[in-house]
Amino acid sequence: MRKITIAIDGFSSTGKSTVAKRLAKYLGYVYVDTGAMYRAVTLYAMQHGFIQADCFDQEGLISALEEVKISFKFNEDLGYAEVYLNGKNVEKAIRTLEVSQFVSQVATVSEVRKQLVKQQQSLGQDKGVVMDGRDIGTVVFPDAELKLFMTASAEKRAQRRYDELLERGDDVAYEAVLKNVQTRDRIDSTREDSPLMKADDAIEVDNSNMSLDEQFEYILRLYKDKINN
Ligand code: C5P
Repeated sequence: MRKITIAIDGFSSTGKSTVAKRLAKYLGYVYVDTGAMYRAVTLYAMQHGFIQADCFDQEGLISALEEVKISFKFNEDLGYAEVYLNGKNVEKAIRTLEVSQFVSQVATVSEVRKQLVKQQQSLGQDKGVVMDGRDIGTVVFPDAELKLFMTASAEKRAQRRYDELLERGDDVAYEAVLKNVQTRDRIDSTREDSPLMKADDAIEVDNSNMSLDEQFEYILRLYKDKINN
């Protein structure tokens, strides 16, 4: 069967990765979580003192970028690839609210984007990939055969992220999560380099009132339409 590229973009916590993972597993495609890559760079910046309190040493991070090696390793038990930073599994460490609070700032840096986009393009060069992020359909794979743009109300999205963090045992307040989601939306949509926006040929999916099964079935139908045409 012909393999295609599936690009899933959208606002923070719209459930992109959940549906993308399920779709990739079902189709036997590779799943790439590009947000995890920006989060890993952010974690690196925090661990190496380029981010302290409210201060972000952008030039320092840029000069150390060569040292930042991000890779993915498939975890059989989980059924998806986990992200590694310089050989260490950071899948859990990158999902904290602290990393979320700085990641959008790090993602405005063109040098960071350039390095990660190159790696993303190489990961998807053979097609058969489901990649989620903010600029996949606009910048990374503008020729992707299927492009989706996921949206949902900020409150719904914050609730989902809050539930996830609680489940992990993190001690967070709903209001802090909501504020983070809104701040990231603003920074991601207004940055100069590769702002979050719907590609002209992307299909918008508002999943505020859709179950995971409904989203999956809907996207699978869109995929089948593409493959058969
Ligand atoms: O998808 P996730 O919420 O984990 O992404 C974290 C952050 O990484 C986003 O808020 C955004 O600032 C940045 N990002 C990006 N481009 C991508 C993926 C993520 O700028 N392709």
